[in-house]
Amino acid sequence: MKRKRSIETLAAQAGVGADKAFGAVSVPIYLTAIYRYAAFGEHRGFDYSRSENPTRQAAEKVLADLEGGAHAAAFSSGMAAISAVMTLFSSGDHILCSDDLYGGTYRLFEKLLRPYGLTFDYVDMGDPSAVSKKIGKKTKALFVETPTNPLMKIADIREVSRLARDRGILSIVDNTFMSPALQQPLSLGADIVVHSATKFLGGHNDLIGGAVVVSDPAIGEKIHFAQKAVGAVLSPFDAWLLLRGIKTLPVRVLRAQQNAEAVASFLAGHPLVRKVFYPSLPGHGRRELHFSQAEGAGSVISFELEREAAVPKFLNALKTVILAESLGGVETLITHPSTMTHADIPVEEQAAVGLTPALVRLSVGIESADDLLADISQALRKTQR
Ligand code: PLP
Repeated sequence: MKRKRSIETLAAQAGVGADKAFGAVSVPIYLTAIYRYAAFGEHRGFDYSRSENPTRQAAEKVLADLEGGAHAAAFSSGMAAISAVMTLFSSGDHILCSDDLYGGTYRLFEKLLRPYGLTFDYVDMGDPSAVSKKIGKKTKALFVETPTNPLMKIADIREVSRLARDRGILSIVDNTFMSPALQQPLSLGADIVVHSATKFLGGHNDLIGGAVVVSDPAIGEKIHFAQKAVGAVLSPFDAWLLLRGIKTLPVRVLRAQQNAEAVASFLAGHPLVRKVFYPSLPGHGRRELHFSQAEGAGSVISFELEREAAVPKFLNALKTVILAESLGGVETLITHPSTMTHADIPVEEQAAVGLTPALVRLSVGIESADDLLADISQALRKTQR
């Protein structure tokens, strides 16, 4: 039996073998919109780069391999990827989602797709009986983040996928926070994985991209059709950056996670911090569940300051940690979800799930842990003055 290659090998050799013309080890960036036909009615597998591009195709192959899927499609953003998945549904369909979602996903669902007749409900996906109760006749999919953004709530991917399968509906997992280096939802039974490739996959805060990975080729064909029909494709240059980023994915993820573990313990013991949300901390209610399906806690930590009024002072006092709206890159970033990444979620709904203005979200990078701890520590101290 052919042994499946490990994720480290798949990642390091991302794109190797894709260049059939000269055997270039680094995939060339095919900056072309069009391809010359061999003869009338006869092209060489490529006709127009919205449909296919060799650099994007190489990135898609790696994305499929890393997630253990049969088919991947790369998009110009994570939101474009999620939008493509939503084209699988029609007016009248109902989609049940995690009750703590990235604000942009909520905005797409509520502000753009609801007027087209799709309906959405939100539930704690970690509570299977609550999920079961909310699945109705019109429900066509379960849309899950685990861990959720930003409250790090955990859902049981096996259980959610089983529930979906039993009802003949789709399970969709946004795997952005974990990346395939730590969690592979298709192997746990999910039908569709989506990613903001802007985050861990790209890893360097230099590209915006997205991905959809599936194991059923029939769904893969529909996604590919949506990709071509809508046209929000990953550009050749960004596909190359993504391949380049993926090569170090497992190494970056592990290093950032090591730093995050140190930062999370430090925060958990700090008197000016009220609560820390990080799956490996002993106080995390679904710690065991998380580790039954993921190989680590990752490097995103949310925490509440003891005093909400201290948030601006804390954020402004940070020097090494950068105040910016993303996660998953080599640099440590911090954001204030309620006014930044999740600002489109009405304040009452934020409060209902526990997203308070005292909460900040840290994406720990690969710098020295000592430098990060020193910076966070001095910024917390300044909030006391
Ligand atoms: N999913 C999650 C969990 C995210 O955090 C984000 C962006 O922050 C997205 C999807 C959207 O991705 P993008 O910004 O690449 O469109």
